[in-house]
Amino acid sequence: MDNKKWFAKPCPLCGMAMYIDIDDEDGGAAFCHEKNTDCIFDYFYIDLDRGYDSIDRYLKKWNNRPLEDELNNDIAILLKIMQWHDAEELPTEHNKYYWCELISEEGDVWTAMRYYGSSGWHVIGERVLRWFHISKLFGGES
Ligand SMILES: [Zn+2]
Repeated sequence: MDNKKWFAKPCPLCGMAMYIDIDDEDGGAAFCHEKNTDCIFDYFYIDLDRGYDSIDRYLKKWNNRPLEDELNNDIAILLKIMQWHDAEELPTEHNKYYWCELISEEGDVWTAMRYYGSSGWHVIGERVLRWFHISKLFGGES
């Protein structure tokens, strides 16, 4: 038995490659992926009714992911906005909040909003590693 495989977008749950497996002998077809005990697709597969729709139409439906496309678009916009500046490059605008990556005296690193006043960063026991304009996240110009 030599099954044909049509590859589709990855599993939305675990990211493994998905394919439509077609049994040449009985014509049965199913969406499935390789063994992954961490994913629900390890326990079942989507049996396709060949009389209901063609493989190409099943693939088109599987690959149509408007929510995933919208989220990826939002992520691309956010990554474009989040242009980190190194700490050596100070903000040109004072008296504003910025999103910062901070490091404590103990070496712990985290991100948080911090104020950049007329005398510099308002930080105690921590140091700014890098920052970006938080107002851009809300449609601001700075
Ligand atoms: Zn999966």
